[in-house]
Amino acid sequence: MTPTTAPDDPAPDRLVSGHARPEDAGDVSLRPRTFDDFIGQRLACENLRVFVQAARGRGDAMDHVLLHGPPGLGKTTLAQIIARELGVGFRATAGPMIAKAGDLAAILTNLDQGDVLFIDEIHRLNPAIEEVLYPAMEDFQLDLIIGEGPAARSVRIDLKPFTLVGATTRSGLLTTPLRDRFGIPVRLNFYDPEDLEVIVRRGAEKLGLSLTPDGAREIATRARGTPRVAGRLLRRVRDFAAVAGRARVDRVATDAALQRLEVDALGLDAMDRRYLDCIVRHHGGGPVGVETLAAALSEARDTLEEVIEPFLIQQGLIQRTPRGRLVSDGGYRHLGQSPPPRRDARQPDLLDDAGEDTAP
Ligand code: ADP
Repeated sequence: MTPTTAPDDPAPDRLVSGHARPEDAGDVSLRPRTFDDFIGQRLACENLRVFVQAARGRGDAMDHVLLHGPPGLGKTTLAQIIARELGVGFRATAGPMIAKAGDLAAILTNLDQGDVLFIDEIHRLNPAIEEVLYPAMEDFQLDLIIGEGPAARSVRIDLKPFTLVGATTRSGLLTTPLRDRFGIPVRLNFYDPEDLEVIVRRGAEKLGLSLTPDGAREIATRARGTPRVAGRLLRRVRDFAAVAGRARVDRVATDAALQRLEVDALGLDAMDRRYLDCIVRHHGGGPVGVETLAAALSEARDTLEEVIEPFLIQQGLIQRTPRGRLVSDGGYRHLGQSPPPRRDARQPDLLDDAGEDTAP
């Protein structure tokens, strides 16, 4: 997508946010263009390759694909690759950009045979527009109401078969009828440091930056499993190196730059550490309810749930329990503290907003 600040980015000023930001415009040149170029997400890529090949063999439009996973993992990139490897046109839009049924109709009627239509943030489609999308996805037909009141009449328009690629960071918010209409659901996971290292090395080459292997590894381990963050850290490291007049960037130079940016050894920034510190210092390590945490940190609950927690959970630094958030032993150690004696998450203590922590 055009790298503007995502309208639903709950923390637009964070360097380690996976959401696109205007400064990411330079990413376009780093985007992989084929499955061979795309590092990581092996299972997802292998399966998609097969479906693309089969669709090409049949000469049909490929089944609709739903890509879900945290921001910055390559959903837009994969959608573009699918179109390129199918040898068809690519058209991109986003859920919040489709305000009226007529907007969607205009997009759909302009698609050519087999084209890929990419709808980013598909969970944010207006429900009335979703209704228009169902017959379009299922039967390649558009049912539209033209006019108002007694003069209103319904018209049916035949569409050329197309492939819808939907992307969402919140698959739990998708309605069941919409989710069921995607024949190919694909989940993207955070990247291994090894894969990110290759991505960083290739990015450095494309940027003409001389980066040592241990420098690349340092960026990779601090990029939160997210290629978009890796690309962003790489560009900031390049800036520090350019100003310092360094021809070759090694681990020491990378570490110094990332420390100045307050990105620690695991990729946590000041906001993540404030979150962990608040639970440890003021709530005995948890469990503590998310609403209490949101109030204590003056952050929106959504920001905690969407931006901060997924990565902390993935790193095993916190747990979401029915009683609230709990800092794990690893979380204590990351803060340089020794974990307290075993705590039991099921103990009914600190129940300020119990039962709320059922988010996926
Ligand atoms: P999403 O749509 O999931 O938010 P994007 O597809 O826009 O993510 O990817 C974000 C950036 O990360 C892209 O600009 C691209 O350069 C980079 N990127 C994503 N996946 C990969 C990958 N597997 N290999 C190399 N770069 C990648």
